[in-house]
Amino acid sequence: MHYQTIIIGTGPAGLTAAIYLARANLFPLIIEGEQPGGQLTTTTEVENFPGFPDGITGSELMDNMRKQAERFGARIQSGYVARVDLSKRPFTLFMEGGAELTADSLIISTGASAKKIGIPGESENIGKGVSTCATCDGFFFRNKKIIVVGGGDTAMEEAQFLTRFASEVRIVHRRQELRASQIMQDRARGNAKIGWSLGYTPLEVLSNEDKVTGLKVRCNASGEVEVLETDGIFLAIGHEPNTGFLEGQLKTDSLGYIEVVPGTSKTNIQGVFACGDVQDHTYRQAITSAGSGCMAALDCEHFLLEYQL
Ligand code: NAP
Repeated sequence: MHYQTIIIGTGPAGLTAAIYLARANLFPLIIEGEQPGGQLTTTTEVENFPGFPDGITGSELMDNMRKQAERFGARIQSGYVARVDLSKRPFTLFMEGGAELTADSLIISTGASAKKIGIPGESENIGKGVSTCATCDGFFFRNKKIIVVGGGDTAMEEAQFLTRFASEVRIVHRRQELRASQIMQDRARGNAKIGWSLGYTPLEVLSNEDKVTGLKVRCNASGEVEVLETDGIFLAIGHEPNTGFLEGQLKTDSLGYIEVVPGTSKTNIQGVFACGDVQDHTYRQAITSAGSGCMAALDCEHFLLEYQL
């Protein structure tokens, strides 16, 4: 199948791009990958998206954006883009399962994924007590002990959220100083269910046959190694851009984020645009992501008009 525009990714960037393109009668196809709605669906309450004075849940916000895009004629298709050929137009998308799609223009809004620490026992225990999504898995830890690894806003937010279920939540962070904003730190510090292990480096996830049992850590100050007993470990140590399927065809920065011409969504390939977290490791907010999605739609529209595609 051939399309004028294909958008890869259904976070705030992709869906905003879809709303704009659909309203311009360009009927984009949006490819929805393994996390429909993107990272916002793994967050709890969104309090800083303008227009929602009482806050809105991440899932509800994404649901609304999706409905809004569909209302104007955007088509959403589930699937996973295995690789792309950007060497000539129309661009080709090779879908997992063998289907091929072509497009005159492409908007990449594949976002970023949760990072792993890279310690023994971590990957093996995903689903058995190691999680990257408190919203998704918190429910399974009712009256259990939980560790959250990380010192940023996500760690504070997830720890707070997990106190709804857990008997105790311990934040383990590799430095004494937290990276999180003051307001998020204050909230977490004010929560009596949250304990702190600051200045501890995670070394290994311990488990029995069924589930996680502990986290081996080293105290940076004393060098002593100890085991923190726990039923679950939530990783909140940041994200990396989802660009693997591009196989290096687009210019990226040193961290792997797609490079765009400053102030635009244009990549180094004409007709390919990037928006949202896949090209932004600075702001990474739902609203900046949505804003960049709007930019991508407008840049794309101009491109299609200029080349009469
Ligand atoms: P982040 O700010 O990059 O923080 C990641 C944390 O993980 C840091 O404390 C880092 O330690 C630690 N870390 C990284 N790699 C590690 C490793 N290999 N082993 C152990 N620890 C490791 O990421 P984030 O918390 O996901 O936040 C990302 C962005 O989203 C930020 O701009 C944040 O403000 C925003 N955000 C906002 C909200 C909100 O306002 N409601 C909620 C969530 C996120 P170091 O500090 O030592 O580097």
